Amino acid sequence: MFEVSIDYSFSAGHALRDYKGKSENTHGHNYKVRVSVEGEKLDSTGLLIDFIDLRDAVKSIVDRFDHQFLNEVAPFDELNPSAENIARYFSEQLAPRVSQYGARLQAVTIWETDSSFATYRPGR
Ligand SMILES: [Zn+2]
Repeated sequence: MFEVSIDYSFSAGHALRDYKGKSENTHGHNYKVRVSVEGEKLDSTGLLIDFIDLRDAVKSIVDRFDHQFLNEVAPFDELNPSAENIARYFSEQLAPRVSQYGARLQAVTIWETDSSFATYRPGR
């Protein structure tokens, strides 16, 4: 089994709704995203998935959120923009693209700070 991962960064503001019963104050993070893909088969070049292709796929999602207020960008205009929900959203968006390479999305981790992060693993 092979596992391939890339890291990506973006900056955005957010505020959690219903946080401990009230709205959390608006603040920003330099988010880090780690996307890990797994699979058994390599292509004729010896790649599970080209890092560049995986990075492009992540970038296409990040571009919607970079330097935005997450609470105003779908789906986080309705879904709370917690690290957990952001990780799940990235996972759901990336899984179909990754499967085109015969690989599986293994996990998405979202760091809000160097020491605070949430991971979503599809189907577990
Ligand atoms: Zn925050």
